[in-house]
Amino acid sequence: MSPRFGMIAACLWFLGAASAQGAVADVGGARIIAADKEPQNWMTVGRTYGEGRFSPLAAINDRNVGRLGLAWYLDLDTKLGSETTPLVVDGVMYTVGAWNVIYALDAKTGRLLWRYDPKSRHDWLRYMCCGPASRGLAVWKGRVIAATIDGRLFAVDAATGKPLWDVRTTDPNKPYSITGAPRVVRGLVVIGNAGGEFGVRGYVSAYAATSGKLKWRFYTVPGNPAKGFESKAMAMAAKTWHGKWWRSGGGGPAWDAFSYDPDLDLLYVGTGNGNAWSRDLRSPGGGDNLFLCSIVALRADTGRYVWHYQEVPGENWDYDCVQQMTLADIKIGGVERKVLMQASKDGFFYVLDRTNGKLLSAQPFVHTTWASRIDMKTGRPVENEQNLYTDKQAKVVSPSPFGAHNWQPMSYDPLTRLVYFPAQESGWAYSRTTTFDYHPMAWNISQNPKAKRPPASANVPATGFTLAWDPAANKEAWRIPHGGPWNGGVLTTAGNLLIEGTQGGEFVAYRASNGDKLWHMHIGTGAVAGPISYSVDGEQYIAVSAGWAGSLPIIGGGIAAIHDTPTRLLVFKLGGGETLPQTPRRVIAPPPPSNASAAEIARGEAAYNKTCRICHGGDLVSSGMIPDLRFMSAATHAEFDSIVLGGARADRGMASFADSVSAPDVEAIHAYIISVAKREQGRVFGSDRIQESGSK
Ligand code: CA
Repeated sequence: MSPRFGMIAACLWFLGAASAQGAVADVGGARIIAADKEPQNWMTVGRTYGEGRFSPLAAINDRNVGRLGLAWYLDLDTKLGSETTPLVVDGVMYTVGAWNVIYALDAKTGRLLWRYDPKSRHDWLRYMCCGPASRGLAVWKGRVIAATIDGRLFAVDAATGKPLWDVRTTDPNKPYSITGAPRVVRGLVVIGNAGGEFGVRGYVSAYAATSGKLKWRFYTVPGNPAKGFESKAMAMAAKTWHGKWWRSGGGGPAWDAFSYDPDLDLLYVGTGNGNAWSRDLRSPGGGDNLFLCSIVALRADTGRYVWHYQEVPGENWDYDCVQQMTLADIKIGGVERKVLMQASKDGFFYVLDRTNGKLLSAQPFVHTTWASRIDMKTGRPVENEQNLYTDKQAKVVSPSPFGAHNWQPMSYDPLTRLVYFPAQESGWAYSRTTTFDYHPMAWNISQNPKAKRPPASANVPATGFTLAWDPAANKEAWRIPHGGPWNGGVLTTAGNLLIEGTQGGEFVAYRASNGDKLWHMHIGTGAVAGPISYSVDGEQYIAVSAGWAGSLPIIGGGIAAIHDTPTRLLVFKLGGGETLPQTPRRVIAPPPPSNASAAEIARGEAAYNKTCRICHGGDLVSSGMIPDLRFMSAATHAEFDSIVLGGARADRGMASFADSVSAPDVEAIHAYIISVAKREQGRVFGSDRIQESGSK
């Protein structure tokens, strides 16, 4: 019997076992470890502890996927996007929307069972890079567990949505945020945090799922040596730092992926970039700066350090190494190896022996100019010294801070033995300030606008594609080109399907074995989050929490596609006939008159770029998530000062910036916005192609 046929037979047997039994989510470690015996469910964010994101269901397959249609949808009352992977347990779907609002739904019909709003601080958006998103939640023995953007971790009753416990995991006086999904391992909820660009000290915490009591904490970078080290691992790490790195926290936050091997009892943690981005500013005198941009293996029940592999020693380019770490057992050179695989933001695809952290292979999957290769003897990158930036000279380096691959989930299909992920080419003109001018509670990347810029010919046009990567041969098998960067997370299924959203606003099914496009539907927005598959009463569904989201749509300005469609949970099945509303068109209206001088407008543009651009987009182009200021209404123009200085819209995520922008600067920023809106009046946002679908 072929592996694929065997998988299908197993699925058919289990399809009969799935039925809605009410929202009890009685999920423990044994069920997650044996997740392949319950293909109808999706019980942890990566479906398995090894984060494979492969569904053994095959009722929807490469022969019939052309009949896929919308079964139901849920509007999530926001345009702020979604990065969430929903969970499904025994016919009930649990998902999390913007501002960490939790929903329990009948997975067959979309009927709302309960909704819980943890009341996260909306004004905290100011201390985050990329929107009030969450990548998911966890279920454990009758509880639904999630984190808030402002640093809380909480559990609610899976049957009722009633709160059970709620704890702070970060210092509210520091610019920590949380966007990652918790995982529950050996009864402990594992959660990280974010804030590498603002200046925090990264760590991972584990809390008892039953009580919310803190059990252990592992810092990813050392603190001030004068205060003593928390562990031997921190004493070891501190030897690789110089200067007074702790003043800005150092960075290294574990803001996305974890995976777990129950046989080895190892929890794998991916860590982020340093603060400041420049190692010369962060750690004058050099050093590897452990554990920045590393994969660290810990004992799950104690948080004790076991091994690490640092992908980018002396991290220098905002290379977070937090991307999904997928565990698989694959044959390399005729030998079965227990591997951990990561398609890193730094452009290399790493395969490690997950028992000991030894590097097995590392090949670039995009154009990389920060390093030419990884030395297999030492496991260290060979940096391109001619591309090192300074305070005087900016250098264009690839990949950019958007990454060759970012948090968008990847998938390993054990039948094709290929790994699939959205990749992208891009470059960035990196520079650094002369000295590290650290500002608490502010964006602290210390790039130097006064450094000499490289010629325009050094720019790298941003492009995107989905890669099918052969991890045994350590090379690309084939690729699917897309219209631009920042395509969606990937699901594979035993139906020989590869499913993902694209930056162009399509949701697409391809044949997993060769990349043939089999079906698509225009959904009017990016589906960047990871799709899932599940079944209820024997019928298979495919779901995605659709909405344009993440750093590129927020910061990227004109590089990003524009989507003005609300964030929606979309659920598909064969023969589904539900219809989506069209997105109303919006036009840039003539702005109020202004007699600002060209000099004042230029001053406003500079002030906008310093403070506003990281959310509202470069050149005033917003991708539809955060309000595009060119579309400001007459009422918003009239209220401009009270919004920016008075915090009149703090409840919608726009906090007061009175502490960092002066009243004359606000006036100049307003004049700049008016000048651009006047130039561009009449331009239209909106899509009239929503739900057009086809089998090619
Ligand atoms: Ca980062």
